[in-house]
Amino acid sequence: MIELIVLIILLDLISGIVHWAEDTFWHESTPIIGKWLVIPNELHHGDPSAFVKNTWLQSSWDLLLAGLVVLGIAAMLGEITWQLLVIFLVGVNANQIHKWNHSPLNDVPKIILTLQNIKLLQNRNHHLSHHSGEKNTAYCVITPFINPIMDRLGFFRFLDKVFLKLIHPSRREDLPHSG
Ligand SMILES: [Zn+2]
Ligand SMILES: [Zn+2]
Repeated sequence: MIELIVLIILLDLISGIVHWAEDTFWHESTPIIGKWLVIPNELHHGDPSAFVKNTWLQSSWDLLLAGLVVLGIAAMLGEITWQLLVIFLVGVNANQIHKWNHSPLNDVPKIILTLQNIKLLQNRNHHLSHHSGEKNTAYCVITPFINPIMDRLGFFRFLDKVFLKLIHPSRREDLPHSG
């Protein structure tokens, strides 16, 4: 059980680091990444419910692809474990878990609402804090456990300091049309 919790918390932290990178670096005109990540992320900040109409596959194809590659490699090595299957299942659904926090309540499965209410999954109030202010807090999208710790520690400001110097002169600002 403890291993399961640690795995999910690690995945949540990774979801936050990926989201931080997507919100921090690159521009709409950056080849591939611009269309694939920057434009959808800016659209999401400006119009948070726009992506709700996307199908599961439209929201999750890239995570599914990455997950299948990892599973395929593990299968070839004969290393499929329950831990890997948990990482696959939760990781591939990270965007869906985020999407449930913007979906009309009627469209969210009861079991998910229950998990959100008992604070095992991140709920919409928690996630909405990412959409307020400078949109540079509460980057993790899976659980309610990691964001308060990371934000209090200034973890993402630390990443800004280190990686903005190395990679990019300044954090990407959302375009004016995207609130
Ligand atoms: Zn964001
Ligand atoms: Zn959101």
